[in-house]
Amino acid sequence: SFIESFCMSVTLAQIPSHDRNGEEPLEERCQRILQEMEGSLTARDRVGIQDFVLLDAYTSETAFMDNLRKRFNENLIYTYIGTLLVSVNPYKELGIYTKKQMDIYMGVNFFELPPHIFALADNVYRTMISETNNHFILISGESGAGKTEASKKVLQFYAVCCPSTRLLDNVRDRLLLSNPVLEAFGNAKTLKNDNSSRFGKYMDIQFDHQGAAVGGHVLSYLLEKSRVVHQNHGERNFHIFYQLVEGGEDELLRWLGLERNCQNYRFLIQGECAKVSSINDKSDWKTVQKALTIIEFSEKDIEHLFAILASVLHLGNVHFGASALGYATLNSSAEVHWLSKVLSTDTSIKNPCLCSIDHFQVLSPFTAEHAKYARDALAKAIYGRTFSWLVNKINESLANKDSTRKTVIGLLDIYGFEVFDVNSFEQFCINFCNEKLQQLFIQLTLKSEQEEYEMEGIEWEPVPYFNNKIICDLVEEKHRGIISILDEECLRPGEATDFTFLEKLEEKMCGHPHFVTHKLADQKTRKTLERGDFRLLHYAGEVTYSVAGFLDKNNDLLYRNIKEVMRQSKNSIIQHCFNAIEPDGKKRPETVATQFKNSLAGLTEILMTKEPWYVRCLKPNHCKQPDRFDDVMVRHQVKYLGLMEHLRVRRAGFAYRRRYEVFLKRYKALCPDTWPHWKGTPAEGVQRLIKHLGYKPDEYKMGRTKIFIRHPRTLFATEDAFEI
Ligand code: ATP
Ligand code: MG
Repeated sequence: SFIESFCMSVTLAQIPSHDRNGEEPLEERCQRILQEMEGSLTARDRVGIQDFVLLDAYTSETAFMDNLRKRFNENLIYTYIGTLLVSVNPYKELGIYTKKQMDIYMGVNFFELPPHIFALADNVYRTMISETNNHFILISGESGAGKTEASKKVLQFYAVCCPSTRLLDNVRDRLLLSNPVLEAFGNAKTLKNDNSSRFGKYMDIQFDHQGAAVGGHVLSYLLEKSRVVHQNHGERNFHIFYQLVEGGEDELLRWLGLERNCQNYRFLIQGECAKVSSINDKSDWKTVQKALTIIEFSEKDIEHLFAILASVLHLGNVHFGASALGYATLNSSAEVHWLSKVLSTDTSIKNPCLCSIDHFQVLSPFTAEHAKYARDALAKAIYGRTFSWLVNKINESLANKDSTRKTVIGLLDIYGFEVFDVNSFEQFCINFCNEKLQQLFIQLTLKSEQEEYEMEGIEWEPVPYFNNKIICDLVEEKHRGIISILDEECLRPGEATDFTFLEKLEEKMCGHPHFVTHKLADQKTRKTLERGDFRLLHYAGEVTYSVAGFLDKNNDLLYRNIKEVMRQSKNSIIQHCFNAIEPDGKKRPETVATQFKNSLAGLTEILMTKEPWYVRCLKPNHCKQPDRFDDVMVRHQVKYLGLMEHLRVRRAGFAYRRRYEVFLKRYKALCPDTWPHWKGTPAEGVQRLIKHLGYKPDEYKMGRTKIFIRHPRTLFATEDAFEI
């Protein structure tokens, strides 16, 4: 009978731990299966549903939150919305990233195992191989939500699971080890995250036709270099400085003129937290050193790199006094001595460089204030340019030189939406970047959804959603956007100030639904605004920006004579950095915001040609603590990450679509006609199967290559029958 063959197939295929020799009497077997079914239902109650698409009350945010919380409490941090992966930071080690786990997920169908970042990585990889096309994984979420960790897990999965040879092991190691280096130089402790990425990172992993990882390329976006000279309370400078001071060998420190005490360096202690309990600077230093060697930095490069770090620390300790006439005087001969030594410049860095500016060959002296500004600008420039050099160097080492066609998987781990008590130019750029990525998400999800229905010849009704294009335009529109206005002000040196910039904004943006100034604050958001602030109503929430420093940070100018001195340095990295970037033309360099805007446009272009996959990371609480799920906070993220909208889109037309072959392969055991072998076309087999399962005509549609199922309930029932 069918029951018998059904039980048999289910037992054989799905319950491997059970008696496989078929000696168990049928009645007992049925009884046991029923009991198991009951057990699995209770389990489902307890651990929630592993795909939100299968949620009955799919429009209810409460149901969504209940499911998420339930799973989080069971340490199940991953849940799908179709193929999108939602991840909640557990803030504890779960033991779910072992080699054994990788083996379990390798090569297994997406929906057949509990949701996992490895399942997504594996699915992307296999799709890339079978369709020979390019993909990217966009990992988003606010600071501390787990983006960088997720991207590392994906990379590790590929490193372990892709075919490899001795030669390729080398590439694999470099790919993996580029991470600790970039993190050391580009990450820092912030109030939100002890290892916060302070730059955006897009990494291509290149695969050959056999699926082996053969190369990579990193693009970095806008490093927050103001951190080099200033850190807010409770925050640190970039990790690498503390690693050097704590972990650097005695001889190295002596050579660099450094003492083993962070407290001695002004640039390291402004946040008053040089020591962080979750960070071991000493051992991280060792890791970075090893990584630098494997990535094939030469000894000379490494030496010069450390010298640069030391130069920044010495620079931070340079003090200025004021002469009787109010001009800057240099009070730090020891620092200047070391500065010149480590950078191998002659001592001309001293007065002419730091205390005066060269106006048409006439040196005009700085005020002390001015001199401090020049000092900080130099420190930022040195560090920022060195970081770019570092990324290039890593790319040289990851580059694959053979010209055979490769497919790529891109990994995008970029700073999350940020709101602090005081938000400045950096937050403005970071949050703009998040607007752009949200825009991309909207375009790609809706676009691909529409295209798929069209391609398969299926009608559908679009779902309304908030399109944040209006906010992107507010920031970036030519001649009218905030960046344009900022750039205009930057062209009026001496006349324009941060406040004239704000005035212009107020004048031009007045009435824009997403822009608020102090004049309008009461009407629009009820919260008042300080003078000197403006507020943007981002898709993810409102953020108040303080205009102080906007012009300076956007201009990012460095005095010409300082550049000249840098160019004379015998440090090859410094030479390279200060010669390469400005080819000495008279053309005004692009402002920081415009450069960033352009690089984001470039990124969008890169991503548009690839197939998207999403990981949405959620942060469960503000205290970086395990087992704490703050409802209000998570609900807010669910909202602005557009998860409910995404779910609705997934469900609006047809919640599920599967290629006929895949569908048949998975469920053929449920129908005696298709089990164990189906001889006709997969589409016919599916037709036969669902007829047998009793699918009603309005529950599904047959596309050209796929079956589309309208209600998850239908698939749910099929899955249930299957899970017995
Ligand atoms: P930012 O935007 O500031 O760079 P982020 O989203 O990259 O933040 P991560 O650095 O990935 O955040 O994560 C912050 C911390 O949370 C990690 O250092 C780690 O302690 C913890 N964490 C994140 N994901 C996981 C995970 N899957 N398992 C265990 N701990 C995790
Ligand atoms: Mg990060």
